[in-house]
Amino acid sequence: MSTTTLKLEQQKQQSQENNHSDINYLSHVITLTDQISEPARDWIQFIFDKYDSNFDQTSITSQIISAMILTMGCFWLIGSLYTLLDYFQRPKFLYRYKIQDNEQITLDDIIETAKVAFWNQITVQLLTTTIAFNLMNYLPFDKNYRVPPVSTIIYNLVVFIFLQEIAFYYLHRLLHHKIFYRYVHKIHHKWQAPISISALYCHPFEHFLANLVPVLIGPFVMCSHRSTISIWLLIVHIVTLNDHSGYHFPLMPSPEFHDYHHLMFNQNFGRMGFLDYFHGTSERYFKSKYSKRHQVLLSLTPMKILIPDND
Ligand SMILES: [Zn+2]
Ligand SMILES: [Zn+2]
Repeated sequence: MSTTTLKLEQQKQQSQENNHSDINYLSHVITLTDQISEPARDWIQFIFDKYDSNFDQTSITSQIISAMILTMGCFWLIGSLYTLLDYFQRPKFLYRYKIQDNEQITLDDIIETAKVAFWNQITVQLLTTTIAFNLMNYLPFDKNYRVPPVSTIIYNLVVFIFLQEIAFYYLHRLLHHKIFYRYVHKIHHKWQAPISISALYCHPFEHFLANLVPVLIGPFVMCSHRSTISIWLLIVHIVTLNDHSGYHFPLMPSPEFHDYHHLMFNQNFGRMGFLDYFHGTSERYFKSKYSKRHQVLLSLTPMKILIPDND
């Protein structure tokens, strides 16, 4: 064997050893994370057992009802609190965090929006949930009784977030094509200064294509455990209600990004922003005050006062 070949062999062996030590290190970190977070896993198990005890887990109809109550309950409970704040504009110490605070919302607007949102839930969402539960029986979903370790839940959620972002960005841009916009997406954009429950104020086709499909892609790709999917659905509802609420509260995720989409129509098609950056669909946003305000508020002073319009 020549000296060069010997050196190459040694380098290859060294690189394989490095890769192995990286993998060993990663698996060690995961094991340690799971050991530390075991009480959190037990707590998640306890909550799910408690919730599931209200439903017959052998019946698919019962499981569909359970999923609908979870998602609709979350939407209407949080959505109602935001809507009361919008309507009464009180208490003032909370209302002052509203980004676009120049409009008085009427009761008619709220009733119309609530009707459309509820209709979308009991038609398209119920149908999609029914199809999804039936499909799950034919796919290798994690059907263990025990909820997965916390590291698996986090890993699944990260994959869900990225798949949702990719699907939502391109489907949302498709909805801005003039044909789809005129007949479908225009409804959602009736709200230039959105309120939380306007998240589901849209055409039923849009609710399926841009809301439900991007959310369900991740769970179907990963064939995740039901508990992980339930946590994901709760997160999705809380985030979308917050994104549409127009309230930039302290320590909460900033809704400025999507609020700007409703204000300007042709900017910020995604949720996270990396695809908007890549495709140049946030150029005006980056020059606006909104992009500077798009951060977690770490003060009790509203962001619009910290970074005023005429700054
Ligand atoms: Zn929206
Ligand atoms: Zn849009």
